[in-house]
Amino acid sequence: MLQIKEVNKEEKVKQIQEKEEEEEEENIDDARSIVTLKNIIYTPNLKAKHILHSGIFHPLLQEWQSKSSNNYDAFNLMYPIFVTDAENIEIVKSMPGVYRLPLCWIVSFLEPLVKEGLKSILVFGVLKNLSKDVDGYHADSKYSPVIQAIGIIKDYFPNLVIACDVCLCSYTSLGHCGLVRGDGSIDNNASIKRIAQIALAYANAGAHIVAPSDMMDGRVGAIKNILMDNDLSHKVAVLSYSAKFASSFYGPFRKVSNSAPLMGDRKRYQLPPGSTGLALRAAARDVEEGADMLMVKPGLPYLDIIKRIKDAHPEYPLFVYQVSGEYAMLRHAADKNIIKLLETVHETISCMRRAGADCIITYFTPLLLKAWLNKPAKY
Ligand SMILES: [Zn+2]
Repeated sequence: MLQIKEVNKEEKVKQIQEKEEEEEEENIDDARSIVTLKNIIYTPNLKAKHILHSGIFHPLLQEWQSKSSNNYDAFNLMYPIFVTDAENIEIVKSMPGVYRLPLCWIVSFLEPLVKEGLKSILVFGVLKNLSKDVDGYHADSKYSPVIQAIGIIKDYFPNLVIACDVCLCSYTSLGHCGLVRGDGSIDNNASIKRIAQIALAYANAGAHIVAPSDMMDGRVGAIKNILMDNDLSHKVAVLSYSAKFASSFYGPFRKVSNSAPLMGDRKRYQLPPGSTGLALRAAARDVEEGADMLMVKPGLPYLDIIKRIKDAHPEYPLFVYQVSGEYAMLRHAADKNIIKLLETVHETISCMRRAGADCIITYFTPLLLKAWLNKPAKY
């Protein structure tokens, strides 16, 4: 009986030892599997400084990883508006949220935006009732919606910086940006004289900035000269549409501004989309002629041009025009729930800043002022 008990005891001890050995074996296997997993994730080839995720896991870290120049404020945004001689406000179907503004609507339209921090606007004129002719008489007549709008805006919003687009296409019967000879070619000399007159009229009316978008040769020099001759060169800046490409992205704008050419196209004076050389030469020429600020138009498809021009002329503020087609694509895609509007717009603006833009001219300015710049901090 005692022997049996002894045998059972020995058996029991043996079983326990075997179990312990088994468990030890399993533990070793687990440890091996952890080592193997570690080896897979942290291979000797992945150096600590190659790990990027550790630098961007928190919104504040994401900010720190972005160049400070990618950020933007209301100072970095300019809002294009269309003023018209029509009696009623008109909705632009192709560009939801964009309107043609009669003079009587300007103050009530701008007031909330100025309260939200709007710093600058770019004014375009649209003729509804006034006639168009070969010289673009109403670009700078006393009935011109632009000239009248400048007076109203200066009275009500003295701190708002007013830039005026200077061109002929919205005011001439043929809808070209310069004056056209009988044979259909552009008369460059006559065009820049007329463009300079219009710029002077806007400057006399109180514009802070005149922005020639016509792409005639020598127009920046002609405008600077006429401003100097009239003792205005110290208080009116010239923002040149330096690298303005002959882009298909302008489609919606031409409908808004009623400025599509009646014959031919603008490829004889706007830049071919594939050209880098002409863009750089145009910017260098405008610098030489005295431009205060340069512009690239359109924006997103031309980030390389923005970078090249900023690198070539870092001393000059660079504007980028996020044009009507860019606006319409994002707006309509968002309306169909294909993209998230605010985040996508913010991304486009940040990327233009990254490329070198100092100020972005965008129809999204009200959205960004309201929903992005004034929103609570993310962290
Ligand atoms: Zn034009």
